[in-house]
Amino acid sequence: MREAILERLAGICGPEGVALPDSGRLSDIVFQGGRVYFFISVAASEAGRWEEARKAAETAVAGLDGVSSVMVSLTSDSAAIDSTVRKSAPSPADAPAGFPALAEVRHVVAVASGKGGVGKSTTACNLALALRGLGLRVGILDADIYGPSMPKLFGLRAKPAVIGERTLVPLDGFGVKVMSIGFVVDEAKALVWRGPMVMGAITQMLRDVAWGALDVLVVDMPPGTGDAQLTMAQSANLSGAVIVSTPQDLALIDARKGVAMFGQVGVPILGLIENMSYFVCDECGKRHEIFSHGGAAREAAKLGVPLLGEIALDPLIRERSDGGTPIVITEPDSPHALAYRRIAETLWHGLEPDIAPP
Ligand code: ADP
Repeated sequence: MREAILERLAGICGPEGVALPDSGRLSDIVFQGGRVYFFISVAASEAGRWEEARKAAETAVAGLDGVSSVMVSLTSDSAAIDSTVRKSAPSPADAPAGFPALAEVRHVVAVASGKGGVGKSTTACNLALALRGLGLRVGILDADIYGPSMPKLFGLRAKPAVIGERTLVPLDGFGVKVMSIGFVVDEAKALVWRGPMVMGAITQMLRDVAWGALDVLVVDMPPGTGDAQLTMAQSANLSGAVIVSTPQDLALIDARKGVAMFGQVGVPILGLIENMSYFVCDECGKRHEIFSHGGAAREAAKLGVPLLGEIALDPLIRERSDGGTPIVITEPDSPHALAYRRIAETLWHGLEPDIAPP
């Protein structure tokens, strides 16, 4: 297949007039279950000029028999390309978990939402800590590169150490291994990245991080259901996805899109989490269901996926998040921390029905 792909690419020239296979810019080509992905290495400032060639490469390869989807990304990380460009290098697809860096990771679980602002990152952070609280070895990858929030949520400011040429060592956040693009790129820059560059960055974050042995790697996905999400869903060898939604109908429509996207790439939905589900009043102690609570339960039943749990709307959750001291750590006996813990237990049971947490 690789030869057939290169033959197609030989008909496509970059802006400098050189055929792609001769340009020295192509990464190794990964072919996995009908899906093809590879990178073209270009300087960040050149991304615009290369977009046409990138698209043409995708179209050309998509026309091949046996190819169901193609993802070509531009990347400015030439060091990343150096290691994969060697024609004899083993393709990442040869590693048990897609990328060698994930070889000792038992489960990669995406936390996704159909739209921003539903509390996806807050949930991912507390869920990772709750899984850790069960005694599991846990990492969290902040793939929300448009708005990385793990540095803030975990109160981490340090730069990760680098091993060898380019392998990043995750930081420690309350016993969870944390990696975020926010540790390496300043936020303003991440925001202006073009789509294809973002996709390349996500893949690099999966490949070039020393995750080591983990039971669960939680991935905080970018919000929405576009190309970046698809790349992630396709390339990370996900065990499954968790969809976070608020109870409002609109959010649920978006959540449905999220479910459909994972279905499209054959990733099972492990369950829905309803966030900001209800509000317990400080003064009267009553439970107020401000956003027609229960929508997620109905939606989960309709989709035939479990409802993993419901998290209340509580300003304390936000305050703890803003302060970099997540509620699962600061108030471990609160009803909220318990709710996260129950979700973690249900999630783990869904992943490994026969293995109790240590
Ligand atoms: P997303 O990742 O979906 O964009 P965030 O996790 O960044 O959402 O959350 C958006 C805002 O809502 C943040 O200010 C966060 O602190 C707050 N938030 C999230 N979940 C809750 C909750 N259950 N109760 C109160 N505030 C919350």
